[in-house]
Parts: sequence; C-alpha cells; structure tokens
Amino acid sequence: MTKRTADVLIIGAGPSGSIASALLNKQGIDCLVLERQTFPRFSIGESLLAHIIDILDEADMLPAVEAQGFQYKNGAAFRWGDQYTDFDFGEQYTDGCDHAYQVQRAIFDKLLADEAAKQGVDIRYQHEILSFSNDGDKARLQVREPDGSEHRYEGQFVLDASGFGRVLPRLLNLEYPSNFPVRRSVFTHIEDRISDPAFDRQKILVSIHPDHADVWYWLIPFPNGRCSVGVVAERELLAPYGDDNETVLKALIAETPSLQTLLANAKFDTPVQTIIGYSANVKSLHGERYALLGNAGEFLDPVFSSGVTIAMKSAQIASGLLTRQLKNGEKIDWETQYSKPLKRGVNAFRGYVEAWYDGRFRDIIFHPKPEQDIRKMICSMLAGYAWDETNPYGRETDKRLTILAEACRSNPA
Ligand code: FAD
Repeated sequence: MTKRTADVLIIGAGPSGSIASALLNKQGIDCLVLERQTFPRFSIGESLLAHIIDILDEADMLPAVEAQGFQYKNGAAFRWGDQYTDFDFGEQYTDGCDHAYQVQRAIFDKLLADEAAKQGVDIRYQHEILSFSNDGDKARLQVREPDGSEHRYEGQFVLDASGFGRVLPRLLNLEYPSNFPVRRSVFTHIEDRISDPAFDRQKILVSIHPDHADVWYWLIPFPNGRCSVGVVAERELLAPYGDDNETVLKALIAETPSLQTLLANAKFDTPVQTIIGYSANVKSLHGERYALLGNAGEFLDPVFSSGVTIAMKSAQIASGLLTRQLKNGEKIDWETQYSKPLKRGVNAFRGYVEAWYDGRFRDIIFHPKPEQDIRKMICSMLAGYAWDETNPYGRETDKRLTILAEACRSNPA
C-alpha cells in the first residue's frame, strides 16, 4: 500500500526542498517530498553564490555537484558604459568559500533531487498539493497523484518549498505585497559566440543600460559556449517594446553598446521567456505545523543572484530546528529561531537591492579609488555571506551604504 504519512511533508523539490529533505533525512527524520512537475524542468536563476557550497557540503551533495562539470564561478563583474569593475570571491572579508558555479537549473535541480533520493529521501513527482489543514494533532495535505486521484497525506510538520507556486501563502492568505515595484524580466539561453578574450567566463556580467540606470542585464556563461542572457526593467518601461519577447530582448541588448558588441554573433536558438512581478512577500514565514522556505516566503530581486542562496539557507535553518523539535522534543519558537535569523540575511540583501536601484551601489562600486577593506566586506555580500554578523556591510547595510555612497560622490576621484 502507498505510504502517505511522514514526519515531515515537503512541498516542492527545488533547491530548498531538496536541501531540506537531505538534511532532515541525515538526522533520521522521515520526510516525503511532493513535487508537482517531473524533473528535469526549466527554472531561471543560474548564477549561484559561494555560500551555497557550504550548504551543499553539509547536505553531502558537493561531490556530485563538483563532478557535474558546471561552469566554475569566482565572482561578479559590473559594466556601465566604459566603467567596469569586478569582485573576486577569493578576496572577501568573510572566511568563506571562494567560488560557486553557474548552472543550467534544469540539470542542477534534478541533480540535487536525485542526490537526496540516493540518500534515501522519498521524492514523488507529478504530485500536486491542493489544500492544507493543521487542525488537531497533524498537518494534512490534499494531494493530486499522477493518475488524477486525490489523497490525504499526513505529517507532523509541512515545509512549503513550492517557490513561485507559493502554495501555503495562497491557501492560507499569507500573501503580503513586496516593497519593490513590479518589474519584468525577459530572458533566454543562447549560443553566445563571444570572441572577446577579455570576457571573463568565470563571472556573471551585470551590465547597466546607458540611459535608464535601473535597467540591467545579466550574462551568465555556461561551459559549452552558451550563456543565459536576460534583462530586467520596470514593467511600464518595457511596454513600448511590444509583446514579442525575442524582439524586446534583442532591442534592449542593442541599446547597450558594450553588450551588443559582445553578443554581435550570438545565435538565439531557444525560445525567449518572460516573468512579470516576481517580487513577493508574506505576512509570516511560519505558523501552526508549517514553515515557508525559499521563494515560497520572500523573493526580493534577481540582481545579486541571492535567490538560491536564501532558499538553501532557509532549508538549512528550518531543518536544524525541525530536527530539534521532532527528534529531541524541544520547544522551538519559530519566530525568534527561524524567521528572525533568516530575515537578518534577507534584509541585508534587501539593503543592497535598494541601493542598486537608487544608485548608491553603482556610485560605490565604480569609484576609481575604492577602499580595499570595504570592498572585501561588500564582496562577502556578493558571495552570499549575508548572515555574517561581524561584517558591518551586512549588519548595518542601509546606513553603511548611504554613508559610503555620499563619500564616493563627494570625492569623485
Ligand atoms: P523553486 O526552485 O521555484 O522550486 C519550487 C518547486 O515547487 C518547483 O519545482 C515547483 O514545480 C514545485 N511546486 C510548485 N507548486 C507546487 C504544488 N502545488 N505542488 C507540488 N509542487 C509544487 N536565483 C539565484 O540564486 N541566482 C540567479 O541568478 C537568479 N536569477 C533569477 C532571475 C529571475 C528573472 C528570477 C525571477 C529569479 C532568479 N533567481 C535567481 C531566483 C531563483 O530562481 C529562486 O530564488 C529559486 O529557484 C528558489 O528556490 P526554491 O526551492 O524556493 O523554489
């Protein structure tokens, strides 16, 4: 008979679901992952940060990731007109990892889920969550199975790792407006045919539009002569470019000469996609018998590639707490022990995203004579070490970036 009970039910097998399941399983907690789609499936978000290496290691998945042959990534580069600067994860303030990877998410997410399964996690695909209840002594999910039949699943606790599916925020009316405006992203994968020897394939390149400083592009190289390329702008700004995604993306690239030159011979061989209004938030990250992980909680903005890092960090913190709660019978205060610590890093990233769009971050990074110690602190944030409380540029983000930007503006050379 099919088993439909577990200590922990996890909704979704993306990075947060896979990592949470592996970490719980490692501690002997019985968990069941219910994923709506079949893998591999496309997901955007290919540039990873160095801090995830620590978490992959803890989940015993690092050897498999290293063996896959993903593009090695050692930092991030930024270009605005003829200004260029780059950060090397090896030169950071935090005593952390010096690299990450640039990954095709279809391959990466399947690899993580398969690794969790190899470790003993039960992952069921084409299982869609329809409803949730937490009355009585159990958490319950109503689930549509692949043959269309519906069944009740029971557990002590549910982790919602459903990403943009946002299962529990929708079902429990937890949605809360993001503080960021509605932006749109248009993106694809290309055969890049970049011949410029100065182009650094080991870094994400973030380029800024020459006339609209809040419009930016990513270029994320993969190892096989291919790249992920995308543009981000406020929805209204893209409206005049029409409805055809490929036309919009190519027109925007053509407006930024450095990017246009780099991609002059690129072959657009994959359908161009768009996502509108991806920034999201919730009233609470936890409740009776449930917690929200990754994008099912809050998603800020793609500019600092923080999404997968936050997803894995939330999985790491939540699985540690759940182990203590379920295995040791400890009383966990999910507000002070989960939500607050997680949000410390998320809010640090938020400060950087705000500084990106209001121009402070640009004025800082393109300053011709940067203070090296401060650059290292900023580099730690770009490497994903947003939870390092000893880093003033992670701990007091807004204040520090404001003061530094003012200093950069008043001493331009
Ligand atoms: P997901 O990866 O979305 O996984 C959720 C899973 O839940 C999915 O497999 C889904 O099928 C499943 N699911 C959904 N609903 C149900 C249901 N009802 N029942 C069962 N299963 C369900 N992040 C980075 O780190 N680097 C980047 O460069 C980056 N670029 C981005 C660019 C853009 C334009 C956007 C919008 C985001 C970007 N991100 C990036 C963010 C990143 O993609 C996400 O933060 C990350 O995928 C979140 O992981 P997750 O595990 O929370 O959710």
